[in-house]
Amino acid sequence: MKTGPVLVPVLGDQLSPALSSLADRSRNDTVVLMMEVADETTYVRHHQAKIALILSAMRHFAEDLRAQGWQVDYVALDDPDNTGSFTGEVQRAVQRHGARGVEVTEPGEWRVRQMFDGWAGVLGVPVRVMPDTRFVCALPDFMAWAQGRRELRMEWFYRDMRRQTGLLMQGDQPEGGRWNFDADNRSGPEAGLTPPAPLHFAPDAVTQDVIALVRSRFGNHFGSLERFGWPVTRADAMRLLDHFIATRLADFGRWQDAMLADHDTMFHALVAPALNLGLLDPVEVCRKVEAAYRRGDAPLAAAEGFVRQVIGWREYIRGMYWLMMPDLATANALDATRDLPDFWWTGETRMRCIAQTVRATRDNAYAHHIQRLMIMGNFALIAGLDPQQVAAWFLAVYADAYEWVELPNVAGMALHADGGRLASKPYAASGAYISRMSDYCKGCQYNVKLKTGPDACPFNALYWHFLDRNTERLSRNPRLAQPYATWRRMSDDKRAEYVTSAEAFLATLD
Ligand SMILES: Cc1cc2nc3c(=O)[nH]c(=O)nc-3n(C[C@H](O)[C@H](O)[C@H](O)COP(=O)(O)OP(=O)(O)OC[C@H]3O[C@@H](n4cnc5c(N)ncnc54)[C@H](O)[C@@H]3O)c2cc1C
Ligand code: SF4
Repeated sequence: MKTGPVLVPVLGDQLSPALSSLADRSRNDTVVLMMEVADETTYVRHHQAKIALILSAMRHFAEDLRAQGWQVDYVALDDPDNTGSFTGEVQRAVQRHGARGVEVTEPGEWRVRQMFDGWAGVLGVPVRVMPDTRFVCALPDFMAWAQGRRELRMEWFYRDMRRQTGLLMQGDQPEGGRWNFDADNRSGPEAGLTPPAPLHFAPDAVTQDVIALVRSRFGNHFGSLERFGWPVTRADAMRLLDHFIATRLADFGRWQDAMLADHDTMFHALVAPALNLGLLDPVEVCRKVEAAYRRGDAPLAAAEGFVRQVIGWREYIRGMYWLMMPDLATANALDATRDLPDFWWTGETRMRCIAQTVRATRDNAYAHHIQRLMIMGNFALIAGLDPQQVAAWFLAVYADAYEWVELPNVAGMALHADGGRLASKPYAASGAYISRMSDYCKGCQYNVKLKTGPDACPFNALYWHFLDRNTERLSRNPRLAQPYATWRRMSDDKRAEYVTSAEAFLATLD
């Protein structure tokens, strides 16, 4: 029987001081193992800034742990003995330290969970996988909530999370007498709207080393490192959050869905990368936002809108991921099979909304929610792009993308590939929506007011083509009754014109 220390592997998105695998361990009987492994950097070709963010945050976290007295065994990417896989590195570390057991917090991803479940058979020591306590809703509680419900609507789940956390509550009633203030939010941009710039964190020496490493090893991946400015420590992530609360929270709700070509981040918080790495805790983030509301620094509609995104959508999405995996990874309820067009990578398209979103994505490893949902996601939906290719793109390009949060958003919310389990209707929209919510159309080579023909905004004909080709699957959805009624009322000639125009555009993609 081995008598060495317990080995605690800490993954790149487990950079939390309160991680469950560390919570009850004593420092003199534990080796923390952190691993930069090639498999994780290349299983999809991640944006260069995403790789730099994760590696730099890991290196900083290892230093913080050491400063707190933990023994940290850190395997760098360019270590010549690095096997390139989690399993290989844990095996080597068990041998190196004569570890008597392995304790690890459950991973966020199905693929890695399968790997962990195989460790007991290959490591020769006991393996304990512990729940990830960094979420409001424990997974067994989500499964219990979902069981037996015909409809798994986020809104009902969200109310439970409000009650459970006490956030924005007055006793057992919601603050302000309503659970949801969306009706007060989501305006289109008005002339002269100028969002304040977010904080930018200049790379320190550790980050500069990592950037050099990424340039040399992954320089052919998508994305730029020129403007890298993400927070890579918990202290900086807190500064980012405080700055958001001080400068943009008050307007967050109102302009949540607005898009401006010259403002890549609008009034958004930019906290998803830090939250998903574990640098910030979702409840602490929401408590700070609630405190700003209670001080009178932000209206209730903005604070409630933000809190709903974090303890509502984020938690619900995570639960839905584990509920629907592994089937979700291959779900394709609308039989969409078109390959991803090259311009998703190059941005070279006459569609200004897409060109601008791809440009922002390349520059920042970031696009805000409505660009993801109503520009890229909407286009993929109505043009019938293959969900697996679309999901692989989203997973690769965003700094906050991990499969547990990316896949349900892409396959469920954006593409309806899950058959509508997550969203009660597909988020399909024509150019009119984009024109109302952005300034993209003004400078576009297409004309958003034209419905068909070579100069017409492609979103217009694609929207009707999407409804038409999915009549069997979608026309009984009560939330689509109105558009289908409009489609049926059109003359045969008009409908044929839309279909011909959409098919001419789709042919250019093939
Ligand atoms: C197609 C698509 C793909 C997406 N992929 C990801 C992803 O890979 N990783 C990711 O974290 N989010 C993803 N989202 C959700 C959302 O777009 C991002 O969380 C958000 O844009 C991050 O920027 P922010 O921190 O400035 O968010 P804000 O707009 O300021 O919102 C605040 C926080 O709310 C949470 N949030 C809001 N909406 C969602 C949501 N739908 N799901 C989960 N959390 C949410 C995030 O933690 C976010 O940081 C995706 C959405 C869509 C439609
Ligand atoms: S006209 Fe159409 S393609 Fe051009 S920016 Fe507007 S919505 Fe996009």
